[in-house]
Amino acid sequence: MIEYQNLVQKISNCTKCTLGHKRTNAVPGEGSLAADVFLIGEAPGYYEDQAGKPFVGRAGQLLDKLLQSIDFSRKDVYITNLLKCRPPNNRDPLPNEIKSCGDYLSEQLEMISPKLIVTLGRYSLTRLLPSNSLSNSRGKLMKYKDIPLFPVYHPAAGLRNGNIMGILKNDFTKIPEIMRSLDGRRDENKQQDSQLNLF
Ligand code: URA
Repeated sequence: MIEYQNLVQKISNCTKCTLGHKRTNAVPGEGSLAADVFLIGEAPGYYEDQAGKPFVGRAGQLLDKLLQSIDFSRKDVYITNLLKCRPPNNRDPLPNEIKSCGDYLSEQLEMISPKLIVTLGRYSLTRLLPSNSLSNSRGKLMKYKDIPLFPVYHPAAGLRNGNIMGILKNDFTKIPEIMRSLDGRRDENKQQDSQLNLF
């Protein structure tokens, strides 16, 4: 917990790139530190910059609904962004900004150690799995290091396009199933371990 608070402090004081000089608030992330599911968006927008919290604007309201649709709430998950500070006019993240912020995301992943990473949109997917494209991999279970990773469209894309909204909703319905299958795999491993212990 102290380790996490230190990280939050470090992010809040960060000036590694120019975004750190322009922000109202840094947006480190929010949710349960014991979360099984770790969601990664792109970058804070206007409302997130004002509030210091991730996904509180329109895309955030949609994300809340998507989570509710699978009986999850924000308290059950951890939500963060690839960039912790708002890019001007919500422009796309630049390579040097992604690089500067990259260590924070790695530290968060290490501290929370989730069972499943859900990337929202292409930037968070390609930060973790650079050779993948969103169009080829969305809705498919992949792996980042040893952690299962499930890429989906960004909620903002769903707000702009009805087809994407349908796909996004459908992809979210797969998350509980994925979690059950991961728990099943863990139980199987545990069973195998205890059988080995018999000998
Ligand atoms: N879009 C994001 O990617 N993150 C936010 O926090 C809000 C909108």
